[in-house]
Amino acid sequence: MKTQTPIDWHARAKDLKIDGRALIDGQRVASVAGDAFEKRSPIDGRLLGTVARGQAADIDVAVRGARRAFEDGRWALQPPGARKKVLRRFAEAMLASREELALLETLDMGKPIRDSLAVDVPGASRCIQWYAEAVDKVYDQIAPTGPGAVAMITREPMGVIGAIVPWNYPMLMAAWKLGPALAAGNSVVLKPSEKSPFTALRLGELALQAGLPEGVLNVVPGYGPEAGEALALHMDVDAIGFTGSTRVGRRMLEYAGRSNLKRVYNELGGKSANIVFADFDDLDRAAATAATGVFYNQGESCNAPTRLLVEESIADEFVARIAAHAKSWAPGNPLASDTAMGALVDEGQVSTVLRYIESGRKEGAKMLTGGERVHPAQGGCYIAPTIFDRVGNEMTIAREEIFGPVLSVIRFRTEEEALARANASSYGLQAAVWTTQLSRAHRVARGLRAGTVHVNQYDEDDMTVPFGGYKQSGNGRDKSLHALEKYTELKTTWIRL
Ligand code: NAD
Repeated sequence: MKTQTPIDWHARAKDLKIDGRALIDGQRVASVAGDAFEKRSPIDGRLLGTVARGQAADIDVAVRGARRAFEDGRWALQPPGARKKVLRRFAEAMLASREELALLETLDMGKPIRDSLAVDVPGASRCIQWYAEAVDKVYDQIAPTGPGAVAMITREPMGVIGAIVPWNYPMLMAAWKLGPALAAGNSVVLKPSEKSPFTALRLGELALQAGLPEGVLNVVPGYGPEAGEALALHMDVDAIGFTGSTRVGRRMLEYAGRSNLKRVYNELGGKSANIVFADFDDLDRAAATAATGVFYNQGESCNAPTRLLVEESIADEFVARIAAHAKSWAPGNPLASDTAMGALVDEGQVSTVLRYIESGRKEGAKMLTGGERVHPAQGGCYIAPTIFDRVGNEMTIAREEIFGPVLSVIRFRTEEEALARANASSYGLQAAVWTTQLSRAHRVARGLRAGTVHVNQYDEDDMTVPFGGYKQSGNGRDKSLHALEKYTELKTTWIRL
């Protein structure tokens, strides 16, 4: 049997050519003012390249281009079957560039190369493909009105969509906006995070090569308070698809209020509760899943189950099991193919996480493992997986999203107490319950105020189901056919017979 030579990612990284210019109206361009910023890798601080620093003038050029493209119908008026073909080619192009995209993603924000390859690239490609396949299969409606008239209820593309996305899953979050927005026929101006701009720019190029007409997808990198704010305030943007922090999500609503009341779809932070009852019959699987949920992607996942609520009678044993699993999440260089946990996105994030760890110590939680920065000699952003036991619901580490590899264990005695503590959060993105009692599973799942509830697992995920939160975790839903609703207007047309 032929064995494949493993890829030398370090060597590939050295040879990689990275273009940080914006993509506007089908052209790679410097920013209007000529400003750029340096982007370094959190793996070891190496300079990756310079990035166009988009500001209001760049956003304005991009929005005008997107509007022209929308109005002349070069994309919006193509039949769904034609849009499907182009988007499928785009999805295939992503897979064909799998290694390059994975390497860019890993260098840019520090996640392990094995995850970029196995999860992020195929997941983003699958998302584009799924909406491509869906778009010629969704029907409009005829209302059940009286015999004298026909009322058609149709969905139309909105126009120009501003997509503003974070750095934790840069490609995937971009795809969750681009898939439904483009499939529905809109033009898009995408603003990636300043901490992870490179894959978004490559996606824009690949879409062009796949046949997406110029101007339909524009990618303008830049800082949040500059490019992001200009996009969200622009009078000619019809909707904002935002994924990011609750703090900035609040601003998105203000920007809309201060400008043209554009639709705002917020996908925000989380502090998801994971409730484990003593009756569950496979505590080791539950512990392994809890550890994966909170340490995967360096703990930089919006839906990470960062609050573990465990029944008092099994708490000591269960927490010991998780601490044992935490050992397999020791951070390492993300370019090594066997690394499970990579580098946090930047020094700022390291400081934030260490501050939270310090607050956990000060407020009286018991640290079982981790709690410190590791591999200082590499010059990268590595923090050991950290577990706090005996966390009180009022403590900062139980209330606020840390966005790093930190688990807070909260003990409970009764089902009512578990549910009340789980719901005592301003967030409501996801939650889980582990029990073998059928009625308890249903009761607790119903009682949890979260957009997604998992029963006896935390891994299932599919393009067919909506993703989004209750409360301050946001209002929109990414993925599934529901996401098409965000980027289309609903029109009623009455016809007298
Ligand atoms: P962030 O809110 O700091 O930034 C997100 C995006 O908004 C970036 O592109 C940023 O440049 C831009 N931005 C920042 N300030 C802005 C401003 N004043 N005006 C306009 N734009 C601005 O979030 P982040 O740190 O990049 O990402 C982490 C957050 O994203 C976490 O809270 C996480 O839970 C959340 N997230 C949510 C989901 C979800 O689906 N609910 C998915 C992934 C991440």
